[in-house]
Amino acid sequence: MDCWTRALGRLREELGEHTYRSWFQAIHVERLDKGEGVLSLPTRFLRNWVVTHYADRLLAAWQAENREVRRLSIVVEPRAAASPIAQLAPAAPPAPIELADDRSQISAPLDPRFTFANFVVGKPNELANAAARRVAEACAAPAHSVPFNPLFLYGGVGLGKTHLMHAIAWHVRTHAPTRKVIYLSAEKFMFQFIRALRFRSTMDFKEQFRSVDLLMIDDVQFISGKDSTQEEFFHTFNALVDQNRQIVISADKSPSDLEGMEERMRSRLGWGLVADLHPTTYELRLGILHAKAEASGARVPDKVLEFLAHKITSNVRELEGALNRITAHTQLIGRETTLESAQELLHDLLRANERHVTIDEIQKKVAEHFNIKMAEMISARRARVVARPRQVAMYLAKQLTPRSLPEIGRKFGGRDHTTVMHACRRIEELSAQDRALGEDVELLRRMLLS
Ligand code: ADP
Ligand code: MG
Repeated sequence: MDCWTRALGRLREELGEHTYRSWFQAIHVERLDKGEGVLSLPTRFLRNWVVTHYADRLLAAWQAENREVRRLSIVVEPRAAASPIAQLAPAAPPAPIELADDRSQISAPLDPRFTFANFVVGKPNELANAAARRVAEACAAPAHSVPFNPLFLYGGVGLGKTHLMHAIAWHVRTHAPTRKVIYLSAEKFMFQFIRALRFRSTMDFKEQFRSVDLLMIDDVQFISGKDSTQEEFFHTFNALVDQNRQIVISADKSPSDLEGMEERMRSRLGWGLVADLHPTTYELRLGILHAKAEASGARVPDKVLEFLAHKITSNVRELEGALNRITAHTQLIGRETTLESAQELLHDLLRANERHVTIDEIQKKVAEHFNIKMAEMISARRARVVARPRQVAMYLAKQLTPRSLPEIGRKFGGRDHTTVMHACRRIEELSAQDRALGEDVELLRRMLLS
């Protein structure tokens, strides 16, 4: 038995069978040259992993058997059938029915309400919706194709990313039940990966992804910063893309803005189609409320729905929460909820949506943000550089304070209430079309409310 084999035997005892099989079995000794031991592994992923986690131990174990070894380097050397772990398997033949059950092992459960039929489409989400449908249809078609890889969905909290991903999964499950679909939050992905490292071989983990047709990972911003998981994710991702399997990713930011994510990963994520979900508009909120109220079977007066769509602008989840309270109330007392009782029922939510911000504060923050003088908020100047920020401030004043349109007008240098109304409409429209402005407005809103 040579020194290397004995060294491996030591490691096997020290680290356990699983770790050994996952990471060391595929190692080859390339040469031992002037004190430098050169080892190879078949993939970059394996190589990097072993270098970061086990280089010291490898060296120590080898040295203990052979004093000549003073340094260690590990290179990537792909070789045929070198390793049971090598890459993910090549494109598998159509999966047998039983395989469909495999998904329960790893895929998270799907929410039965999150279907395309229940997704209300408006300007802010039409691109994301169209892209998601396209992917779902392509994936369910007999000649499975991959329209864009990956589909990257992003947007703020509660705007429908998870809903769309589940909708894709439902569509594929209903129309092509033999296709293997995995939907997983990034957190879960991380958790499973770490658990696999600890308790089982990482092979099992990789096995899970072997024959997947569609892999969806939700909220990848949670992978940022976690180096090893990122690495594994990157590896899985590349292997699947190479095999032409569809991938759908969601995050709260665009690929280029994902902090703590390696550059190569960010650029890779942006290769396919990047579709963002904009903050909701009044029309979309009202549309969603109508749809949900109808589905719940409770009759809620239009006035109340309009009131909610105006007041609860943060995200759809809160909007749903508000409506649920109202429908529960309606069912409980057996008659329609009035505007007054709605206000009462939701007073805490409404307060959170307008946390005692004053118009002065809004003007100050907005002026600072756009780098204009506070005096321009009340001046008569109409140049766009000052007029647009002024409109933003009016819009935020309407959204975040209980002041009426004439009151707001007065605070802005004695303007007419129709000017304020126009400003509100304009900003709402613009923030749906112009992402930079939409983000500015959202940022200001958050700063003011925090
Ligand atoms: P995200 O994942 O972007 O944070 P979710 O997909 O979880 O948001 O959506 C939050 C809630 O709002 C869910 O209950 C979802 O069904 C609902 N929702 C969001 N957008 C829409 C929409 N356009 N139509 C219907 N429901 C929606
Ligand atoms: Mg989500």
